[in-house]
Amino acid sequence: MSPDAVVVGSGPNGLVAAILLARAGRRVLLLEAAGRFGGGLRSGELTLPGRVHDLGATVMAMTLASPAFRELRLQGVEFAQPPIAAAHPFDDRPAVLVHRDVRRTAEGLGRDAGAWLATVGATAGGGLPLAEMLLKPLGPWTAPPSAYVRAAAFGAMAALPATTFARSAFRTAEGRAAIAGMAAHSMLDLRRPITAGYGLMLASLAHTVGWPVVRGGSQVLADALVAELRSLGGEAVTGHRVRRLSELDAPTIVLDVTPRQFMSMADLPDGYARRLRGFRYGPGVFKLDWALDGPVPWRDPAVADAGTVHLGGTLEEIVLSEAETAAGRHSPRPYVLLVQPYAADPSRGGHTLWAYCHVPNGSPADMTDAVETQIERYAPGFRDRVLARHAMGPAALEAANPNLVGGDLSGGLASLGQFVRRPVWSPAPWRTPLPGVFLCSSSTPPGPGVHGMGGWQAARLALRP
Ligand SMILES: Cc1cc2nc3c(=O)[nH]c(=O)nc-3n(C[C@H](O)[C@H](O)[C@H](O)COP(=O)(O)OP(=O)(O)OC[C@H]3O[C@@H](n4cnc5c(N)ncnc54)[C@H](O)[C@@H]3O)c2cc1C
Repeated sequence: MSPDAVVVGSGPNGLVAAILLARAGRRVLLLEAAGRFGGGLRSGELTLPGRVHDLGATVMAMTLASPAFRELRLQGVEFAQPPIAAAHPFDDRPAVLVHRDVRRTAEGLGRDAGAWLATVGATAGGGLPLAEMLLKPLGPWTAPPSAYVRAAAFGAMAALPATTFARSAFRTAEGRAAIAGMAAHSMLDLRRPITAGYGLMLASLAHTVGWPVVRGGSQVLADALVAELRSLGGEAVTGHRVRRLSELDAPTIVLDVTPRQFMSMADLPDGYARRLRGFRYGPGVFKLDWALDGPVPWRDPAVADAGTVHLGGTLEEIVLSEAETAAGRHSPRPYVLLVQPYAADPSRGGHTLWAYCHVPNGSPADMTDAVETQIERYAPGFRDRVLARHAMGPAALEAANPNLVGGDLSGGLASLGQFVRRPVWSPAPWRTPLPGVFLCSSSTPPGPGVHGMGGWQAARLALRP
């Protein structure tokens, strides 16, 4: 029997869309190009037998905050919180530690305690209702009126470049650097608008829901989503890459792909195709996974308890690194985003670690030495702990997941322009001009992260009578 709906791609957005369609009684077929489900949720033995590495996402803050995942009420997935959400070490002084507790975090910032409470703390004070508004930037909102007041206050800060925000709100080098380390997740030049917003939102989630990992690896979450789909009668197939929409026969098609792939799949109306051609991809990443024979020997031992570590020193140094990347160059001392899942979850076959730095889109450069030198800077003796390493530059990442165009893990530049035009300017950008065809990937609002909200929105539109 032919399906009512075909979902192409099994990233978190595709999986959420597929489940919501199946829960509404549709016969769903999910087609995934790779050999395993999950997209950015995949895990595998990248280094040594028995070592579980996440190929993409590990930190599930957005998942816990997401209305889509809360609505799903998945069974069989356990989230583990590290003792400290994030740490930001320095060459010559103790690290900034972002605890679940906002007051404890603020106390560690000395003269900037009040600044942290007034900015990150105030955003966290908006709780899940504010997080819902941020993850549904175009609505529909169910938040109480107080959340709108919080959202307005957040918006005033969030619109700023991270540089302006950090320098105007914070006085200490530590406070400013902590904001830069958070904001640099955006992969943007930190002198650009809305980069403060990314930093504020991520930092506040550490206090609202924490920065947990999935016990056993992110694949556990992907597998639970597939199991849920199958329990609803949905069919899910791996190793099936869809090249043209004409191969599919269903009244509803939901695509967990980025604009470039969509354009190659169908002949689109001229105006829409022109707008998609204007969609810009952002920088890529160079990612390393390691199997270690013990924990990273951080100079500041407190960093060992952090799930995520931001390496790159001061605000000025991180700003320079990100500006270099945005200008199409490689920073010799790159900002490095490092995740040590073992701080939260000892069940991954030993001490496994990953880190990436930003590189120009499609860069063939080998950044292994630059990344490891940054780690050694804050953890002398790190290289002596390495049993095996696995590197993936932009080409390898895109080969593993075609959505990572040129190594861009955001599904397109997350700039102000592409925040409101993602991938096109529309009150319902998940809808395409092709009848019954919807986009749901991170190239649609609210953008990157494991929240499934693109899938939630696309399914909602597809189910509308
Ligand atoms: C190294 C790395 C680290 C990250 N860390 C985090 C993190 O810690 N926390 C976080 O929240 N986010 C993180 N992210 C981002 C997060 O993984 C993505 O934002 C998220 O997975 C996007 O979900 P998606 O469903 O839009 O697409 P994806 O997860 O990219 O999935 C798309 C799927 O579609 C499949 N596909 C594409 N084209 C076709 C086709 N033609 N036919 C069939 N199948 C197709 C792909 O194979 C893939 O499985 C990270 C990403 C990377 C790469």
